[in-house]
Amino acid sequence: MTLATSSLVVGNWKMNGLRGDLAELEAIAETAGACGSVEVALALPATLILAASAAFPTLSFGAQDIHAQAGGAFTGGVSGAMIRDAGGRFTLAGHSERRAGDGDTDAQVKVKVEAARRDRLSAILCVGEDAALRDAGRAEHEVGEQLRACLPRDGDGLVVAYEPVWAIGTGRTPTLDQIASMHEALRRTCVARLGATGGAVRLLYGGSVTAANAGEILALDNVDGVLVGGASLRAETFTPIIQAAQALAARSGRPWQGLAVAGPRA
Ligand code: PGA
Repeated sequence: MTLATSSLVVGNWKMNGLRGDLAELEAIAETAGACGSVEVALALPATLILAASAAFPTLSFGAQDIHAQAGGAFTGGVSGAMIRDAGGRFTLAGHSERRAGDGDTDAQVKVKVEAARRDRLSAILCVGEDAALRDAGRAEHEVGEQLRACLPRDGDGLVVAYEPVWAIGTGRTPTLDQIASMHEALRRTCVARLGATGGAVRLLYGGSVTAANAGEILALDNVDGVLVGGASLRAETFTPIIQAAQALAARSGRPWQGLAVAGPRA
């Protein structure tokens, strides 16, 4: 199945959201329905995926993390099969908040990306430098190393999100030149490691994306979408980002099959 989609807009609700907040999805689904060249996805708290996917089947939902194991005695873990069973199509892996707060290492993130594929979920692999590395002029080198350490053997359906740690939740963003240059480097790395599949990997930018900056970021080469935290929590701040992506969709995009085409949608 090939969708006409050329852009991917993903919201990350982080540890926010109770069932009552799913009302925000009504306006988001309506906007997404009017923006047919954009796939709109939300990484929700695991507790909300089932209710959201049942109520809003035209949106894509996923998790913010995945346990590496398929199942068993792992108290507190959520497996890929569970995410799929709840209607999820993807998971984030290696978000910087989990790397910093929960100690996820590159090696563990790689295993999680491979676990997602095993369980027929798309993985959105997050990479990004901290402020010290950016200031030291080592951002591209270090993020490239991080990506190489986390890339799975098979990149089919893979999404990579570049999220500078210092830009997350701060209102600060890299310059457009810095984003373009980083994304070009990430593309080169994907192609070098994965061949033709690497050319099709979706590259998202994340970190203080808002309606005000989404258009100019999405217009950059090798930016195939955005990963949005704070502004995704409310329809009034998220829907203009979807509309900005739609406005740019006329430009030729990378072929995009949609999240989790590795298997039947749950
Ligand atoms: P932000 O978060 O948009 O609030 O900066 C982005 C993210 O962490 O995914």
